[in-house]
Amino acid sequence: MFDNYSFTAAERFLRYVQIDTQSDSQSSSNPTTEKQKDLSKLLVAELKKMGIADAHMDEWGYVYATIPSTSDKKVPVICFCAHVDTAPDCSGTGVKPIVHKDYQGEDIILPDDSKQVLRMSEYPYLKTQIGNDIITASGTTLLGSDDKAGVAEIMDLANYLVANKKIKHGTVKILFTPDEEVGKGTAKVDLKKLGADFGYTLDGGDAGSLEDETFSADGVQVIIHGVIAHPGYAKDKMVNAMKIAGEILAALPKDRLSPESTDGKRGFIHPVRIEGIAEKCTIDFIIRDFETDGLQKKEDYLRTQIEERLRTYPTASFEFTVTEQYRNMKEILDVNTHVVDHAKEAIARAGLTLKMESIRGGTDGSRLSFMGLPCPNLFAGEQAIHSKLEFISIQDMNKAVETMVHLVQIAEEKS
Ligand SMILES: [Zn+2]
Repeated sequence: MFDNYSFTAAERFLRYVQIDTQSDSQSSSNPTTEKQKDLSKLLVAELKKMGIADAHMDEWGYVYATIPSTSDKKVPVICFCAHVDTAPDCSGTGVKPIVHKDYQGEDIILPDDSKQVLRMSEYPYLKTQIGNDIITASGTTLLGSDDKAGVAEIMDLANYLVANKKIKHGTVKILFTPDEEVGKGTAKVDLKKLGADFGYTLDGGDAGSLEDETFSADGVQVIIHGVIAHPGYAKDKMVNAMKIAGEILAALPKDRLSPESTDGKRGFIHPVRIEGIAEKCTIDFIIRDFETDGLQKKEDYLRTQIEERLRTYPTASFEFTVTEQYRNMKEILDVNTHVVDHAKEAIARAGLTLKMESIRGGTDGSRLSFMGLPCPNLFAGEQAIHSKLEFISIQDMNKAVETMVHLVQIAEEKS
């Protein structure tokens, strides 16, 4: 299918990563940094040059574009989505991408900081990359494959579909968002304007991987009310809220139910912030589980722990407030099974082995899914993200493009 086409994802990627698009969690503007628009504007210009007339960026820095249908059938509208920003954890200024051609398993020493060495022993995924062309940064910055790989792959998909009108597909929507890394990627998205039936974020790792599950997440705020008195005359009166808070935290199990003691499918109760005086003390928790029932059980457990501690202090009291944060996208994808099934088939047609994965966190896809756009996460090839050792292979990027081309055809065939 790709015999007469040379992929452009890597060529695009090498240019996009040199544009600094770091987002900022401390900023309250949308987008959180204006410089993210530098890349978004370039993407619009390139889409227009391909002939995608409606490509545009809105005032919030979101890019929308439409690749028209080539089919006579009524085919669902599919959206491919990627984020333009890079993580605040690691510098994204002055990224110098380097292509290491025909990788043979050697250590890759990054030239601008020889302490940064990419080793197969530490990154076993490299075993699958022998003979491939690996892209890294130069040692002082992240690379930005998260998620400029997804951006470049979707751009190459657009280029391919526009140039190969014989490929039968329905309407394809493109969405590039800012601020994913600071949890605001869907803050200003307009799904009505987008008009897609379902979508895929291109923001995953290993070739062939597909993520259809995220945590479900609640926040719990516990406020403990103590009893205040003059410390000189406090005997049998004072109840110190900070000391009760300390007892509550000490009562949490050490070998389970915490981030530091769990992995895989197990969730946790995690205190993230504490603030207080003797009179009143507030503890913020995040609760995580793959099942919404599991969240409830953990919240009940936490409440019981608090009640037990408070029994010793009858004059103290507490408030317990639960706030929903996000939900496991699987709840939505399980009633829209074709969305994941199409992706599985596309991965198989691209000659890859499927790896189903769960994300121990939330994604823009989980928020989009509950906003009405069922949206699992497809691999983009990104590895060792948010670090100076971040890498990606050109071959994995091309496989991601190929998978999307199969995906749009599968949706057309099954319509
Ligand atoms: Zn990402």
